[in-house]
Parts: sequence; structure tokens; C-alpha cells
Amino acid sequence: MPSIYPASGARRNKWIVERRPQRAALDPWRPYAFCVEDERSASGQAVPVATIFLTNRECPWRCLMCDLWRNTLVEETPAGAIPAQIDYALARLPRARQIKLYNSGSFFDCHAIPVADYPAISRRVQSFERVVVESHPALAGERTLNFRDLLDGRLEVAMGLETVHTDTLSRLNKGMTLEQFSATAEWLRKNEIDLRVFILIKPPFMDEMEALVWAERSLDFAFDCGATVASLIPTRGGNGALDELQKIGEFSPPRMETIEAAVIYGLGLKRGRVFVDLWDLRKSSGCMGCHAARISRLGEMNRRQLILPSVSCDQCGGGG
Ligand code: SF4
Ligand SMILES: [Zn+2]
Repeated sequence: MPSIYPASGARRNKWIVERRPQRAALDPWRPYAFCVEDERSASGQAVPVATIFLTNRECPWRCLMCDLWRNTLVEETPAGAIPAQIDYALARLPRARQIKLYNSGSFFDCHAIPVADYPAISRRVQSFERVVVESHPALAGERTLNFRDLLDGRLEVAMGLETVHTDTLSRLNKGMTLEQFSATAEWLRKNEIDLRVFILIKPPFMDEMEALVWAERSLDFAFDCGATVASLIPTRGGNGALDELQKIGEFSPPRMETIEAAVIYGLGLKRGRVFVDLWDLRKSSGCMGCHAARISRLGEMNRRQLILPSVSCDQCGGGG
């Protein structure tokens, strides 16, 4: 049976946008969230890292799995708003050594982060030893180098690889090829900019077994591209489009066993740090006997970068 998901790019954009639930009403002068969390650094220390989730104009792509647009603006970000948001968050956060300026899109998208604000932004993050921003590979370029040159600390760019399953990657509607991703990764390396890679665990159109195989191949590819961090994201519903695919059996979030096996594979490679995003797992339901213990084991594996003994459970048999 043919999928209800359109085969062509233009129709896909429309199909995805038509299924969206409501966007949050946001103040362009306030970040929509901020926090400080410890993250293990490349040298093995637990380092406090501030993350500021900037409010800015929506990303120009329409990826099938994306829910980040919910916390974005329809209008261009006003000049001066991003530095003001950083001031607001830093005044309320404990001290940190590194900072992530995450903007639900690409930092180097000039409609999202005005280029004229780069000097004011860089002054505010001058005391941080590392500044991490997100970007689609197509938008890393001259502006990336300009921003790098304004920083005292090291620049790290986080790019969404999503999956190396080429057919699925194309159906995700990200407008990116693996060749483009690896060429941008190489360009970052040549320009002394570190690379962090986001990988989806179980994108749509995959069963549980394929999901693990493709998460593993994606981890291999990320480290081949020189990633120092691979961040595994269990694919979540809730953006309208994935919920519709879930109704017809073309998407379901990954099982805990698949997430655990992907993390164990990645840590076993010992090619760089591997983190799993636990924010949504904490809100999800699972076995009453072990769900919480398995999430805290994954949290501990994030912190220590070690494969820890599996959790035993007399209700479901426990996990990997
Ligand atoms: S490029 Fe990133 S932020 Fe933009 S739509 Fe795709 S997943 Fe969302
Ligand atoms: Zn259990």
C-alpha cells in the first residue's frame, strides 16, 4: 500500500505544515528556556554547560520529524533581541564554563540571528571556553568564520545528520545529502571548528531492528566525519506529521531496548563522546518496574562514558 506521505518535495512541505499543532506565543526579547547541566568534556571532566534556547525566526526547512518550530517566531528576529536574551539568561543562571546557544534552527541563518548582532553576542560569551551553536550544513560558511573569529573560546557546530539511510534521509525532507554533510564536516575541521552530530534513533519508516542497524551506521559515519560528540535523539511524536504516520504504522518511538543498544554500540566504539537525549524519555511511560532505573542508568552512562551493568527487572526481564 503506498504511503500517505507525498513523494515530492513541494507537496511534502505542505503536507507537513498542514498537520502542525499550534505554535507557542513567544516574546522575541526572552529566551524560551535556559539551564546549566554538567556534560563530560573531551578531557574526561564533568564541565558545567549553560544552554540557552534562543527565541528566533523559524528555520527555512520543513523536516518531517521537526518539532523545534513550535518555539520559534514567524517574523524576522528583531535586531538586538538575541544579545538581550543572552543577558536575561546569564543573569539568572549559575556560572558555567561552556555555553550552547541553541536556536531551533541554524545559528548562521541571518533571518534567525541577525549578523549585525554577532559582535554583541560574542562579547556576552567571551568568558566561555567553548561556544556551541547549531547549523544545517548548507548554512555553514563565511558567517561561521566571522563568528569564530570574534570568539575567545573554541567554536563547536552541531549538525543534524539524522540518519545515513539515504532513502529515509531524503524522505525526512531536510534537503541534505550525506556528501554535503561530510563536505561541511571536512570544511569545519580545516577551519578548526569542532563538530557535534545529532543522530535520530528510529526515524519514521523503520522497524525496531532496522532502527538499531541505522543508528549504528550513523554513529560510524559521524565519527568518520570527525565528530567529537555524537548525540543520540530518540525520535518523538507530537509535531502532527509524525502522529499521522504513527496512526498508519509508519512511525513509532523507539523501544527502550533499542535506545540502550544504540548507546552501548556508540560507547563501545571509543571514537568520541556519545550522549543520549533523555529529556523526552523522562516524560514517557514504560515498565513500572524498571523505566526510571533504566533512564538513570543512561544518565550515568552519559556522565561517565562507560557501559554500565544492565538493569534487572522481574516485571519485564530488564534491558541490555
Ligand atoms: S533543519 Fe533542523 S530546525 Fe530546521 S526543520 Fe529541519 S530539523 Fe527542524
Ligand atoms: Zn521492567
